[in-house]
Amino acid sequence: MTSLLCGRNPTDQVGAASPFAKIVAFGYEDGPSIGIVRCVDCSEAYRFEMLATDVDGLYDQAAWDRGEELRIFALVPLSEGAFDRIVTLLSSVEEPIWPVWLPGVSRRSPELDRHIEADVSEILGTAGHPRLIVATADLLKPFVAIRDYPAEDGQAPLDWFAVLGFASGGQLVATR
Ligand SMILES: [Zn+2]
Repeated sequence: MTSLLCGRNPTDQVGAASPFAKIVAFGYEDGPSIGIVRCVDCSEAYRFEMLATDVDGLYDQAAWDRGEELRIFALVPLSEGAFDRIVTLLSSVEEPIWPVWLPGVSRRSPELDRHIEADVSEILGTAGHPRLIVATADLLKPFVAIRDYPAEDGQAPLDWFAVLGFASGGQLVATR
């Protein structure tokens, strides 16, 4: 583990309060699936994308029973100020709602769609490669597991839960 999250070893944050405080979501599948997330204490921000969901409670039956099924997200570092630039841009059209803002959901807006398609995509396009993968029910809740994004070999892993050290079926096994 070499990548830091908010200047700390990410594994030290497993089980602790999430470092993140604000989400702007551009995709939603029972929860934010694509969007941007910002730290509560520092200016660190990431683009996130949901890679997998524990659909049948295969990896964590208890959480799944509670309706808090585990999800796995990839985190791509955003350049300094990108999160705030996007919020400022979209705030000119719609009043933000925190901690989770879904622009354009309460009221469709062609102007908002234009901003998201053109300007927001351009800002997000400057983001680099995924740095971390996180297992959590919600990026604003404690992380269950976190690792460096696996080295790219041109193929996405078949089982993101296995990459994070989860064994399927029965008891949840999270390794660091
Ligand atoms: Zn931070």
